[in-house]
Amino acid sequence: MLEGKIAVVTGASRGIGRAIAEKLASMGAFVVINYNGSKDRAEEVRQEIEAAGGAAAIYQCDVSDYEKCGTFIQDVIKEHGRIDILVNNAGVTRDGLLMKMTEEAFDQVINTNLKGAFNTMRFVSRQMLKQRSGRIVNMSSVVGVTGNAGQANYAASKAGIIGLTKSAARELAPKGITVNAIAPGFIETDMTGVLPEKVKEATAAQIPLGRFGKPEQIAAAAAFLSSEDAGYITGQVLHVDGGMVM
Ligand code: NAP
Repeated sequence: MLEGKIAVVTGASRGIGRAIAEKLASMGAFVVINYNGSKDRAEEVRQEIEAAGGAAAIYQCDVSDYEKCGTFIQDVIKEHGRIDILVNNAGVTRDGLLMKMTEEAFDQVINTNLKGAFNTMRFVSRQMLKQRSGRIVNMSSVVGVTGNAGQANYAASKAGIIGLTKSAARELAPKGITVNAIAPGFIETDMTGVLPEKVKEATAAQIPLGRFGKPEQIAAAAAFLSSEDAGYITGQVLHVDGGMVM
């Protein structure tokens, strides 16, 4: 269990991040719910956690902004004393074919999904090094491993997450800090909710388990990698994808 632990979950106002925040709180962690634009939904997550007997606080921060991430993490440390778990979940898509992709769409996705994870890890790792303990879990994706037509920016950001994860795992292992990634397949959230029904059906047909996953199934993996039980696992990419990549 995670009693007494302070966990930061980025992009926890909706979808997978929300499920992770709720799971970690249900295991006893105090959860910092980070959001960018969805204040009301972040507040709803906080209330839900408290109604279930847990504890949480909401913090606004655009993870793509290096300076703001520094302030955000310093504020959390000042107010809560330490950070034991960091889950870099915040992410966006701006899909389009390479030939037509704007520089802005490429930059936004890389800056949020990849640089955002660097930004928080940059500041949190200093605190975890002092503590000589910590768990970092970064959200990659199956497409970071396989690539995907129409997602050059997104797949590059998620492949980058894997390199970032493995490098940080090697750097931080001597101080007892583990760093792992999760590569979800298709999960039922706002992100995949925009896909046309026909595309969803065709995609599900390609998944060995025959269906999209649920945010709670990613949350279970994140909770395990954040736990004491996962203390001998680092630098790994855990696929939670219904068998899409094997
Ligand atoms: P989602 O429902 O679209 O939610 C995205 C979350 O990220 C929201 O809480 C959003 O916060 C936050 N966010 C976006 N930009 C941000 C920024 N600049 N700073 C801080 N927070 C930001 O997405 P999801 O499906 O839950 O995906 C969560 C993660 O899993 C992402 O990294 C995604 O790439 C990855 N993933 C998802 C799937 C899938 O099938 N759904 C598959 C593989 C990987 P606000 O609403 O407050 O802006």
